[in-house]
Parts: sequence; structure tokens; C-alpha cells
Amino acid sequence: MAQRLYIVGNWKMQGTRAMLSEARAIDRAAERLIKAEVALAPPFTLIHATRKEAGLIGVGAQDCHAAEGGAHTGDISAPMLKDAGAGFVIVGHSERRADHGETDADVKAKAEAALAAGLAVIVCVGETEAQRDAGEAESVVAAQLDGSLPRAEGAADKVTVAYEPVWAIGTGRTPTVEDVGQMHRSIRARLTDIYGEAGAHVRILYGGSVKPDNAAELLAADEVGGALVGGASLTAESFLGIIVAAAELGEG
Ligand code: PEP
Repeated sequence: MAQRLYIVGNWKMQGTRAMLSEARAIDRAAERLIKAEVALAPPFTLIHATRKEAGLIGVGAQDCHAAEGGAHTGDISAPMLKDAGAGFVIVGHSERRADHGETDADVKAKAEAALAAGLAVIVCVGETEAQRDAGEAESVVAAQLDGSLPRAEGAADKVTVAYEPVWAIGTGRTPTVEDVGQMHRSIRARLTDIYGEAGAHVRILYGGSVKPDNAAELLAADEVGGALVGGASLTAESFLGIIVAAAELGEG
């Protein structure tokens, strides 16, 4: 059976309890739009409350530490996320790779910790503009996949890949539908190299300036299994425009 398109909102470092009303509205709409699978990754401080307020959608985190616990002031471990009600965690977002110097090895360790805690994991990859201009986009992303993906037994069943070109995040610019399809085909080939047959079923999300008005065409690109959405997930109104587009494609 074909998988539903998976639409994940990443609230980044935005959101206080006042925003729980948006999560509730998204959850209510998701109840109707069952042809799409919907999730939100609010900041750590809202995970528990979002899980309580929004009973249908997936709720996850934007990062975790690779250790189970210990002397890591300010960090949050995967078991703590699970305890707070998270079902998944995003790792390797380009903002964390850039702001916190996270390497592929760090991302892989976090992904493995998440799986060990019973969380699903979304592993982010994507090239910079300079790398794309130099014709290196596919090789950069392939190397990130090689270095960042968890290899534990059964990992492919719990992993989603998010392809997010760094230059498209928060800029209003997107690759062409053809470029998205080409990159996603290349990611699919790498996933089957890494995971064998199981790699054929790993969902590959596109992320980078997905909005209600471009969602339908980006989601219809080859090998696109959903979207990771930043800015346009902050209000129920704009996020729902994307979820509706996904649900309509799911009907077809
Ligand atoms: C993101 O940060 O994951 C993202 C895709 O952001 P935006 O949708 O705002 O480009």
C-alpha cells in the first residue's frame, strides 16, 4: 500500500504556550484530512503540552543529545524526549550543523540514540548554494547520508530522510521540481545501497520554503514522500494549506 504523504512542521526556536491553539487547530483539521500524515516538532518546552492538546498528529523534537543522560548542562536526551511524549526527533538540521558545528558522526550518534530510546528519526541533509553551484550537490548529500544515517538493525523502518537545500531554507527560493526529483532519486539510490531492499521504503521529505502555493507541485515531484516545513508551519492557516495539498495528492 502506498504511504501517505508525511507533512512535518518544524517550529524551530519559536512558540510559547499561546501557540498551543495553533497546534489544536492543526490537530482538528488532521482528523478530517486523513489522506495526509501530519506531525509537529515544537520547541522542547512545548512537547508535553502539545502531545496533550493535539491527540492525533505526531509530536516530536528538533534535536537530542547522543548520551542517555549525565553531566551535559542544557542538553536533552532521547529517553527524556520519549518521556515528554515525543514520538520522533529531527537530527542534523542544517541550522544545528551550522550553529553548533554538528558533524555527520554527531548526527549519526544522535540518530542511534533516538532509535535506542524507541523514537523515530528524521535525518536532515542538504547542500549549500556554493556546493550546488560547483556541481557537488549530489555528492555532498550522498556523503552526508553515508555519515549520518543510523545502521542499527531495523533502522530503515524508523528513519525518514529530509532533503533540505540550505539555500532554500527560509529564503522563499526553491529548486525546480526537476531538480528536486533528481536529488530524491539520487537519495533513493543511496538509501538502497545503505539499507538494501528496506531502503526502498524510507520516506524522503523535501524541505525549504514549502508554502501553500508551491506545495502541490513540490509534493508531486519524483520520490517525494512529504515535506518538512519551517515558517509556513507556524500558523494553522498556512500549514493547513500544505496539508490540504498533501491530502488531495493522497486521494489520487
Ligand atoms: C526548515 O527549517 O526545516 C525549513 C524547511 O524552513 P522553511 O520552510 O522556513 O524554509
